[in-house]
Formats: sequence, C-alpha cells, structure tokens
Amino acid sequence: MAAKLFIVSAPSGAGKTTLVKELLKRLDSLIYSISHTTRPPRQGEVDGKDYFFTDKARFMEMVASGQMLEWAQVYGNCYGTSKIFVQERLAAGQSVLLDIDVQGGRQIMDSGLDSVSIFIMAPSLAVLEQRLRGRGTDAEEVIRERLESAKEEIDQKSFYAHVVVNDVLDEAVARLIAIIEQEAGN
Ligand code: 5GP
Repeated sequence: MAAKLFIVSAPSGAGKTTLVKELLKRLDSLIYSISHTTRPPRQGEVDGKDYFFTDKARFMEMVASGQMLEWAQVYGNCYGTSKIFVQERLAAGQSVLLDIDVQGGRQIMDSGLDSVSIFIMAPSLAVLEQRLRGRGTDAEEVIRERLESAKEEIDQKSFYAHVVVNDVLDEAVARLIAIIEQEAGN
C-alpha cells in the first residue's frame, strides 16, 4: 500500500468514532494520528492513546513553534495534529488517518499536502438529532449547539473528495475500506 494521508471529518452524531475504530481494527496498515487537545479527558479516555491531553499554554506553544500540521477550536477547546507524528509515519511508508473537524480538514487541503478527504454523514438531520439525544450524556443546550454546528459542517462536505453515508455500520465500514484501498493503490 502506498503511504497516504487520509482526512476523515463528520458532524458530531454521524457515528464517526465507531466507524474509525472499526476501520482501524480491520486495516492494520493504517495509523491513527493521535491529536493534541485542551479538552479534559472523558471517562475511559487514555492520555497518549485517545489524545495527548494538554493545557492551553502548552498547546499554544506548539502552535507558535510550528509543531502543528493543522489546529482548530471546536466547542471551545483546541485540537491539533502533530506535524512530526504525521511526517514520520508517512516517511516510513505508512498511511495515516486524521480524525479531524472540517476547519482542520480545510487547512490540510489548502496546504497543498497530498491527502484524501472523506466526509461522513448521518442519513438525515433527524437521525443525527436522534443519535445525539440517544447518547444521553449531553445537556439540551449542548445538543442544540452540536446540531447547529452539524448543519454548518454539512455545508462543507462539497470540499471533500468522498462522502460516505453512515446508515448501516458494516456497509459504511466496507465503503471506507474500499476508498482507502483504492486510493492507496491496492
Ligand atoms: P471530541 O472532543 O468529541 O473527541 O472531538 C470533537 C471534534 O474535534 C471532532 O469533530 C474531532 O474530529 C475533532 N478533532 C479531534 N482531533 C482534532 C485535531 O487534531 N484537529 C482538528 N481540527 N479537529 C480535531
């Protein structure tokens, strides 16, 4: 497989986290880029596995010293991709998956870096809302905020090379694998 940089973005509630986990289980050759974030860890999240959890000062230091390939503020927290992490993997011939928001996705696309962008959608806004509510973890205000930004994010999907609708999980995973294998020249 040729080493490629894959960008995967989705509005929250589209089921991206589950999809990405399945994908990584099935594609050994794909490396997940562990982002840096100022968001506090959620229950069960492990530092250095899910994210590198950091404080705002350290994060902004990384930005200022050019260590981020891209970064963005999402729901009041900062998230960024380490340049060295990605460069080293690609140089070693490994494909890298970036699970990042649309602002970060656009930054990578605009940078001229060779990448393959994939946007994941819920089948409809109604389903998206159902999924957000179904989590049962977020307050009404948070759900509304996420729905609003989901609409803005969906408007950006035309910038992405591929759009995958996550209706039936296995089908969406199969579609993602097909895109990745095709793009990586398998
Ligand atoms: P969460 O806090 O739910 O883990 O992630 C919130 C959003 O931040 C998701 O859309 C996720 O894809 C995005 N995100 C995670 N890491 C990065 C990153 O390194 N850069 C950018 N731009 N977005 C990220």
